[in-house]
Amino acid sequence: MTVHKIISNLLESNTFVLEKDGQALVIDAGADLSELKRHFSNGVVVVGILLTHGHFDHAMHVVEYAKTFNCKIYASKFIKEYLCDSKKNYSENGLCVTDFSNFIFFDEDCSFQVGVFNVDCFTTPGHSKCGVSYLIENIIFVGDLIFKRGVGRDDLFGGDRQQLVQSLKKVQSLSFEVLESGHGENSSFNEQKRNLQAFIKFLSRQK
Ligand SMILES: [Zn+2]
Repeated sequence: MTVHKIISNLLESNTFVLEKDGQALVIDAGADLSELKRHFSNGVVVVGILLTHGHFDHAMHVVEYAKTFNCKIYASKFIKEYLCDSKKNYSENGLCVTDFSNFIFFDEDCSFQVGVFNVDCFTTPGHSKCGVSYLIENIIFVGDLIFKRGVGRDDLFGGDRQQLVQSLKKVQSLSFEVLESGHGENSSFNEQKRNLQAFIKFLSRQK
């Protein structure tokens, strides 16, 4: 499996293209469609789009992608209220999804197959109610839950400090080699062991 990372012009969010055996899976939708298309190998078939959460910088172009590639969008069921409300997705009227017929929703940890890709999906709310992390082979895609040196904000709509801590603990309990974040660089399991330990301690402190 190969992984390409595209840095979008929406708050420099990351959009990922995974390719394997002539198929591609897209994670998040901040990059312009024209930019995204440049990152596919010749003849590759896009089999699905996964969303880590519903903030505009990660979901802006998702409906356009799904129409273009004629594929399904996988996301938390809680993403609906973000995508249909530009205040909650922070797009200032830019993103307002009305037709959810291309979506496949889930509300708990699960595993599913999209083309040749095996996806383990973990609900990881805290930064948003609709946060999901996807473990594919040895790479976990966590959206804005965790960064190379830090964790996501919990003060936006639907954010929750307690849930954030629980989600950090969930990721801490998984085995992976690489962690890909919704912004910035990736990090290793060992780097995240230290990062997560420190933030769980810090965020669990009482006033
Ligand atoms: Zn976000």
